[in-house]
Amino acid sequence: MKIQVKEITMPNTTTITMEHGAGGESMQALIRDLILNNITRKSSGTVGLESLDDGATVRIETDNCNAEIVVTTDSHVIKPIFFPDADIGRLAVSGTVNDLAMMGAAPLALTCAIVVPEGFELPVFERIIRSMNTAAEEVGVPIITGDTKTIERSGLDSIIINTTGVGMAENVIRDCGLSSGDKIIVTGTVGDHGTSLLAHREGFDFETALVSDVAPLWNMIKMVLPIRAADGTPAITAMKDPTRGGLAATLNEMAQKSKIGIVLNEESIPIKISVSSACEMLGIDPLEVANEGKAIIGVKAEYAEKVLSTLRSHPYGKDAAIVGEATTEDPGKVIIKTAFGSKRYVDVPTGDPIPRVC
Ligand code: MG
Repeated sequence: MKIQVKEITMPNTTTITMEHGAGGESMQALIRDLILNNITRKSSGTVGLESLDDGATVRIETDNCNAEIVVTTDSHVIKPIFFPDADIGRLAVSGTVNDLAMMGAAPLALTCAIVVPEGFELPVFERIIRSMNTAAEEVGVPIITGDTKTIERSGLDSIIINTTGVGMAENVIRDCGLSSGDKIIVTGTVGDHGTSLLAHREGFDFETALVSDVAPLWNMIKMVLPIRAADGTPAITAMKDPTRGGLAATLNEMAQKSKIGIVLNEESIPIKISVSSACEMLGIDPLEVANEGKAIIGVKAEYAEKVLSTLRSHPYGKDAAIVGEATTEDPGKVIIKTAFGSKRYVDVPTGDPIPRVC
C-alpha cells in the first residue's frame, strides 16, 4: 500500500511558535496546511472558511426568508491587559464588532467566552466586564450569552476573552473586491495601537504621547455603506481592518485576493509624529504594526471624495485619507511611492514585531 504524504509548507519546526499567531506567512501556512486541509465542510453561505475573510456568512433559506447572516469570532490575548486609553475588554468587543463591520454587517449580538487563571483579582475582572459593556453600548449591541472557565495559574498567566459576533448585511462586503482604479482609503492614523502597547510595555518615556486606537467602528462604517453608484451597487468595493501585521499585511492580503496591484503614496499615509518617532527608536515599521480602530476601504474612484468626507465627519474618521489606488500592474503586490519619487515593494511581514497585541 502506498501512503500519500501531504506536502507541508510549514516552517522547519514541529511545535507551535509565536510566529504562528503573528498574522504573517507562518500563520497563513498553519491555517492552510493544518486547518483548511483537515476540515471537510467549510461553507454555509457565500463566504466560507476558505475565504479567510473577517468573518463568514450563513445562508438562511425558508419559505418566507432568504438572507445571509454574518458570523465572526476572535480570541483576545494582550499584554498588558490595561494599556493607554483602553483594555482587553474594549478590545474584545471592538475587534469582533469591527470584523462584522468590515463585511458590511450591523452587529446584532455578541457572545463572550472567558478563560481566566486562578488568582486573578475580582475587581480587575469586573473592570474588564464593565469596559466590554461600554464598548458594546457604544454601538448598541447586546452581549447575549457566554462562558467562563478557570484554569490553574501554572497553565495560564492572564485572561483570554473570546467574542463571537452575529450580524446582518444588506450587501456583504469582501476583502477581495478591489478592481483597478479603486481608491484606497485608510480611516485614520496607522500604527497607534501596536506602538503604544510596545512603548507602554517597555516603559519608555514617550509613552504618554502614544495611545491605542481601540474602538468599535460600526457607527462610522454604517455612514458610508449607503453611498451607492447610480446602478445601486455599493460605492465600497472592499474592506478590511489592519490588525495584526498592520497596513502591510492587510493590503497585501487584499491585493492577492483581489488579483490586482496596489500603489500607495507614502506621503498621504497618516502617521502621528509620536508614532513614527517611537517606531524609529524601537526599530519597527509603522506599516507593520497592529491597529484596532482603523479600516482600509476600497472605493470606486468617483465616490472616493464622498466616502472620505463622510468618514471625516465621524470622530473615529477625522484623519481619514486616500492613500493609494488599485492597479492592473504587479497583481498581488503592494508598491509604495516615496516622497522622493522612488518605489519599493511593501512585503508581507514574516512575523509580528510585537507579540500579544490583540
Ligand atoms: Mg479583521
